[in-house]
Amino acid sequence: MNPFINLGIRHDIVNAISELGFENPTPIQEQSIPVLLTGSNDFVGLAQTGTGKTAAFGLPLLELLDFEENHPQALVLCPTRELCLQITNDIKNYAKHMNNVNVVAVYGGASIQDQLRQIKRGVQIVVATPGRMLDIINRKAINFSQVRFVVLDEADEMLNMGFQEDIDSILSTTPDEKKTWLFSATMPSEVRRIAKKYMDNPFELTMGEKNTGNVNIEHEYYVVRARDKYAAFKRIVDNNPEIFGIVFCRTKIETQEIAESLIKDGYNADALHGDLSQQQRDKVMKRYRERSLQLLIATDVAARGIDVNDVTHVINYSLPDEIENYTHRSGRTARAGKMGVSIAIINSKELGKIRQIERVIGKKFVKAEIPTGFDVCEKQLFALIHKVHKVEVNETQIEQYIPRIMDEFAELSKEDVIKRFASLEFNRFLDYYQNAPDLNAPADDFRRDGERGERGMRDSGGKSEYTRLFINLGSVDEFNRGDLLGYICNNSKISGRTVGKIDVKGVYSFFEVNNGDVEQVMNNFKGVEFKGREVRIEVSGEGTSSPRSGGERREGGYQRREGGGGYRGGGRREGGFNRDRNSGGGNSGGGFRDFSGKTREERPERRRRF
Ligand code: AMP
Repeated sequence: MNPFINLGIRHDIVNAISELGFENPTPIQEQSIPVLLTGSNDFVGLAQTGTGKTAAFGLPLLELLDFEENHPQALVLCPTRELCLQITNDIKNYAKHMNNVNVVAVYGGASIQDQLRQIKRGVQIVVATPGRMLDIINRKAINFSQVRFVVLDEADEMLNMGFQEDIDSILSTTPDEKKTWLFSATMPSEVRRIAKKYMDNPFELTMGEKNTGNVNIEHEYYVVRARDKYAAFKRIVDNNPEIFGIVFCRTKIETQEIAESLIKDGYNADALHGDLSQQQRDKVMKRYRERSLQLLIATDVAARGIDVNDVTHVINYSLPDEIENYTHRSGRTARAGKMGVSIAIINSKELGKIRQIERVIGKKFVKAEIPTGFDVCEKQLFALIHKVHKVEVNETQIEQYIPRIMDEFAELSKEDVIKRFASLEFNRFLDYYQNAPDLNAPADDFRRDGERGERGMRDSGGKSEYTRLFINLGSVDEFNRGDLLGYICNNSKISGRTVGKIDVKGVYSFFEVNNGDVEQVMNNFKGVEFKGREVRIEVSGEGTSSPRSGGERREGGYQRREGGGGYRGGGRREGGFNRDRNSGGGNSGGGFRDFSGKTREERPERRRRF
C-alpha cells in the first residue's frame, strides 16, 4: 500500500501521485501533511526548495476544499511566474482523478484577460504572484471572502523581491479566520515578522537545522586569480563531462557575457536574466529542461523558482551579495533526494565570505583544486569510453557497412582498433590541454595578482586583431548570433574561436574575424547561396573591433559545434574570454556594470550582506 494512504490522503489522489512516481512521502510531507489535514492550524515550514513542499501543502488543500463549490477557497502566493506555473501544474496533476478541481495560475507577463476569464468560470484554488494578483483584486474581478487557506510559498523570496506591501493588501481581502501556511527556505527576521503578523500560534516545522542547507549538497570552493576565473570555470566544467548545471552570476551583464563566451567556445549554454522577455526566458527554460542546454547561466532573480530535477552542479561564478542567496542558489541542485555539488569560484580575498556562508549553512566547504589538463583529459577520455560502451547500435542501418569496416580493420588487432577509436578524441583533448597552466591561485601572491587580473580582463579586449565583415543575412532570415556563428564557421571552414563580435541586424549582419582569416572567409563564401540568394560578404567600412554595444540578443538555438580546434568542437580556448571583456554586451544597452536602470526585480531589499 502506498504510504500516503496512511498519512490520510484519499485513494484517487494517491493514485495520481503514484503515477508521478511518489512512492514514499518526503520528510516534509510526512511531517506536515497530518498537521495540515486538520485544517485548524496556521503553519510555518522551514524547508529548502526541492524537498517536496508543493505536495506538502497541495495534497492537504485537495483534501480540505469543497470542489462542489466554484468560488476561491485557497490562495497560494509565490514569488515568480515559473514557480506559479509549476505549482499550478503540480496541483492539477495531483487532482487528475478528481472531479471539478479548478486551479488557475495568475501571474504577470501573460494575458490578464485569459486569467480573468478562467476566474470567472469558477475556481477553487488560485496560485498567484503578488503583483498580478493585486491587479486583479483592484479590478474587483475576484472575491476572496470565502478563502479558507492562504499559502505563502518561498516567503523569503517574496520579501526579497519587495512584495511585502502587495502581500499585505492581498491578505487584507481574505477573511480573518482563514489559516495561513508559510513556507520559506530561510528564516530572516523579515519572515519571522510576517509570520508573527499573519499567524496565530502557528505550528512550526523545521526540516533540518535552521538555515541549514540540504544535506545532499557538497560544497566546494576553488581559489583562482581573477584573470584565470573563466578558464578555471571552463576547466571545472570540462572535468565534469556529464554536468547539467546552473551557473550564477551577479549581474545581468555578467550573465549575458559568460553565456556568450561559452557559446562561442562551443558549449551548450544560454543566459537567463531579467532583461529577456518572458517569451525568451520561457524558450531558454524549455531548452534547459529538455537538456538541449547543459549550462544555464543565470542571475539570482531570474533563477528563482526554477524547478528542474537532476541539476548536478550549481556554480557560483560570482558569490552572491547576500549570504541567504547562496542557500537559494545551492538549493537548485540535490532535489528530491539526489546528490548535488555547489561550487564557488573565488579569489583569495573572498575566503572570508566562504567562512560566513559555512556558518549560515552549518556545513563546511571542501577546498578543491582546479584539475590539471591531464586530469581533464583522463576524465573526458573515460566519459567517451563509457559512452561508446553504452551507445545503442542501429543494427539494420550499420549492417550494410560492416563488411567494409571489417575489411578496413582486418590488419588490426582488437586492441589496436580500440586504441585508435579512443585516440580519435583523446588526441584532441591532449592537443587542447597540453601545456595547460596550473590555474590554482598561489596562496601568497594572490591579493596583488587578483587586482591585476581583474583589470587585465577588461583591458585585454578591443585590440585591432579583427576585421569587421558585412554579410547580407540577418534576423529576417531567422539567424540569431549563435546560428550565424555556426553558419559562418561551416561555410568558411574557420574555427569559431577566431570569430569575434557578431551583430545581427534585420536584413544584414556584421561579424568580426581574425585579420588572418578574412581571405579564407571571402573565398569560401564565393558561390554560397542561402535559399536561392547569393550570400555576399564584404569588409565593412567601419574597420576593426569596437566595444560591443547593447545589440540584439541571441535567441537560444545553438548546438555544440563539431570539428575544428578545441575539443568542445572548434570554438574553445581558455584565453577566449578576455577579448570582449571591456564591452557593454548583452541587451542591457548600457555601459559595463551600469545599474542605474535597475528594475524592482533587480533591486532586492538588502539583507545579510557579506
Ligand atoms: P518541490 O519541493 O515541491 O518543488 O518538489 C521537488 C521535486 O520532488 C518535484 O519534482 C516533485 O515532483 C518531486 N517530489 C515531491 N514529492 C515527492 C515524493 N514523495 N516522491 C518522489 N518525488 C517527489
